[in-house]
Amino acid sequence: MNSPEEQLLIGVAVGIPNLAGLHARPAAALASQAKKFMSTIRLVKDADAVNAKSIVAIMGLGSQCGDRISVQATGSDAAEAVQVLTDLLASGCGENHPELPTKSHTPDSPMTHRIAVTSHQLAGIPASPGLAVGRIVQFRHTAMEVVETGGTPALEGLRLATALQEAGLQLETLMAELGDTAESKIIHAHKELLEDPELLNLAAKGIEQRKSAGFAWRAAFLQYASQLECLQGDHNAMLRERGIDIRDVGRRVLGQLVEGIHPGFELPDGAILIASELSPSDTASFDRSKLLGFCTTTGGPTSHVAILARSFGIPALCGISESALNLADTSLVVLDGTNGWLNSQPSVSDIAQARANIAGLNNKYQQDLLNAHVLAKTRDGRRIEVGANVRHAQETMEGVANGAEGVGLLRSEFLFDDRDSAPSEDEQTTAYAAVANTLGAERSLIVRTLDVGGDKPLSYLPIPEEANPFLGLRGVRVSLDQPTLFRTQLRAILRCAGLAKLHIMFPMIATLEELRQAKSILAEEQSATSAGDVQVGMMVEVPSAAVLAEQFAREVDFFSIGTNDLTQYTLAMDRGHPKLAQKADGLHPAVLKMIALTCEGAKKHGKWVGVCGGLAADALAIPVLIGLGVIELSVPVPAIPAVKSLIQRLSLLECEVLAQEVIQMGTAADVRARLSAFANTNEE
Ligand code: PEP
Ligand code: MG
Repeated sequence: MNSPEEQLLIGVAVGIPNLAGLHARPAAALASQAKKFMSTIRLVKDADAVNAKSIVAIMGLGSQCGDRISVQATGSDAAEAVQVLTDLLASGCGENHPELPTKSHTPDSPMTHRIAVTSHQLAGIPASPGLAVGRIVQFRHTAMEVVETGGTPALEGLRLATALQEAGLQLETLMAELGDTAESKIIHAHKELLEDPELLNLAAKGIEQRKSAGFAWRAAFLQYASQLECLQGDHNAMLRERGIDIRDVGRRVLGQLVEGIHPGFELPDGAILIASELSPSDTASFDRSKLLGFCTTTGGPTSHVAILARSFGIPALCGISESALNLADTSLVVLDGTNGWLNSQPSVSDIAQARANIAGLNNKYQQDLLNAHVLAKTRDGRRIEVGANVRHAQETMEGVANGAEGVGLLRSEFLFDDRDSAPSEDEQTTAYAAVANTLGAERSLIVRTLDVGGDKPLSYLPIPEEANPFLGLRGVRVSLDQPTLFRTQLRAILRCAGLAKLHIMFPMIATLEELRQAKSILAEEQSATSAGDVQVGMMVEVPSAAVLAEQFAREVDFFSIGTNDLTQYTLAMDRGHPKLAQKADGLHPAVLKMIALTCEGAKKHGKWVGVCGGLAADALAIPVLIGLGVIELSVPVPAIPAVKSLIQRLSLLECEVLAQEVIQMGTAADVRARLSAFANTNEE
């Protein structure tokens, strides 16, 4: 008979309450609890039994909400381990659950958005605007030469331990450089993977079989990564992504074990990087001063690389043709991130032209920057506040340096991105307060509440598969559907009242009922927190809001027009559709009429109107927006100096006449022709 210590104890099977199953965060909680016990502990789901002390192994179960899992243990403290871990599983491993237990939506593959332009002009999805002439650097995860047979197990074990330690130190340095950002949290998760017992055991077994440390380590992390990547189904999308993380951190360690391989990737000066994909740690470790632009064959405008390129202020394309991967290293190319192409064989005159354009753009930027700190006013004295569209405090700081008078749009969803559960109230407060403190009490801060759904899915907040996601649970509808999430965010924002002039704005309001519901939840949270003065506004992005602006204006303090969405909903053209991109024009007179209606409705109740969509930074559109009555423009940080400089050259009176003229027109082409003529007469 087995001694008590060898007896296998089996706990009752419990249903997993976590909406996204045992993903990284609950898996980490469970593994760290399991590691406190001496016993050997396994989690059992159907025919699978995995090490409960390994995050990767737990994630590899591919569990879903409702799956039944039991804890089994052998050892001196087996009984207590089974009890504690079973309770932990049943309670959701410390995770709070949003209300909606359904499937996540996967966005369209960007590959479907590709259009060929010419044989040497490769089209991609514009992910970050700008123009660059630079040399191709192909970024590949090169297959490293790893010898199979190693020295003694003791020697190889020591080599692996040293490599793991060195990789851990690199990750710590990277985390310190990144500060409190989403990227830093990903790097932190990478560091945890370095301590995963299953992964380390697997590598140790290889070493015992006389494999080299590099060979054994590579076999171990590749096996783990592919185990996760093979998981099928939408609910496992996040686990498949963790496979990328394991390969990423695995390669970092391997870099320490293989001769001549640099742990980081040294960029030459003037690089235009081409990659099939870029991992978070790749992008975070590039030298920003050497990088002129990015192209990736995968990803979309909301992907990590696109976000990073925009914050670097360099051009980028996603979803570029795979033939870009065959372009020779060091070849000279022209990248246009604004219009979405890479010219792989530019002629001498193409290059000269692009360089002249870049020099012209840089000169103009420097000129505009000199005057960017004055308050923007038209020649005849109309004050137009110019704010920045930002995601975090760092960008806010850059915005202020570029002349931003406030933040007209804090895209709070970026705080919710790139992670596997929603940020806590404290975490959100810290992030919003950092932005508010950067601005100070005299500047405005407009925080947009969570704007996800449609083109911006959140992996841990599954939204049901929808036939028309842009017409489904999107914007404020998600918040109203997830009141716990919504209330947490509102409380976190309200805690920043007083640090800056605080404004809260709801995205994608379509009906008065939605606005009233959102406001009443806000009022409840406000009375509970006794937050001071807060202005409440809404985005106008849906035709119904523009048409009924007068009714909405009675119930808000301000409107901010999201012209990107207002254009797609007015013209019924998907904003990301490659064939419709040219026609989905914010200068279409139908869209301008919606803006006019919004301004008229607001004026009747003495409310102000801003624009935070793409049109706010469009030189042709600005005179019309001002002429229609818009008094605030919120734009990407690099665009601020040019927008302020243009405003100073305009006359309100002329803008009003112009606006009335163009909203009578029938086509966007007519509007553009008239506005181009007007712009020429206003050139410096
Ligand atoms: C808009 O729709 O114009 C807007 C500013 O919101 P987003 O682009 O984030 O949808
Ligand atoms: Mg929008």
